[in-house]
Amino acid sequence: MASHLHFFCWVLMAVAGLATPLPAQTWDEAARERMVAQQLKGRDITDSRVLAAFARVPRHRFVPERLASLAYGDHPLPIGSEQTISQPYIVALMTQWAELQPGDKVLEIGAGSGYQAAILAELTDQVFTIELLPELAKAAADRLKALGYHQVRVKTGDGYQGWPREAPFAAILVTAAARQVPPALEAQLREGGRLVIPVGPPGLPQTLIRYRKTGGKLTEEARLPVRFVPLVQPGSQKDEGLQILLPGLPP
Ligand code: SAH
Repeated sequence: MASHLHFFCWVLMAVAGLATPLPAQTWDEAARERMVAQQLKGRDITDSRVLAAFARVPRHRFVPERLASLAYGDHPLPIGSEQTISQPYIVALMTQWAELQPGDKVLEIGAGSGYQAAILAELTDQVFTIELLPELAKAAADRLKALGYHQVRVKTGDGYQGWPREAPFAAILVTAAARQVPPALEAQLREGGRLVIPVGPPGLPQTLIRYRKTGGKLTEEARLPVRFVPLVQPGSQKDEGLQILLPGLPP
């Protein structure tokens, strides 16, 4: 009798389970799932923690509201002050190349919208990011707090100098193109640490390079042609701004 009852309950539960509709996916969850499948897994992003981070972080909250519906497309987008948020694939590749473990200290140069910092914060609780433009730094810090990324430290300043008080870092990601590796960043990388940086002149195809510090020196491990906004050297003449023109964007 007891076993009949048991079976009956089990059948009831199974039927109830079938009848319960899956929670509806919001448009942005669906867009993120597609982005991860097509743009990241469909290329060479294989690190499951990186893929999970991209499925979680609401990229549409990091772009101007009028561009929210374009946030999950396979392209960069303007974020104001003549700056851009990189294409999702490039953010993912840089993150994968950083090989972050929980607890690793990571420094980002060029906070911009704060999106890359949020992705990093999904992988470690020690995220530091520097942004030259005060208005972007403030907006990024506010946005990261509002989304619950309280552990990210945002500083307004010149990334060429790094963040000496918090060094050494297990990984440093530079999200604007430098003419060469800034010496302070090399110095602030710990032994075995990864530096991911686009190198090259403004406007031209640049090279995204992943270095590892071994025996106190940087060893190049991987590279890819890319195009980033320039890493500005405060004090040098300001003529390196890049006009990013993307077809089909609302004004
Ligand atoms: N990582 C950002 C996008 C960065 S765009 C994101 O996820 O949205 C590059 C950023 O680097 C711009 O915001 C630009 O203002 C900033 N930048 C340029 N030169 C810099 C410097 N010397 N120090 C710090 N930030 C700099």
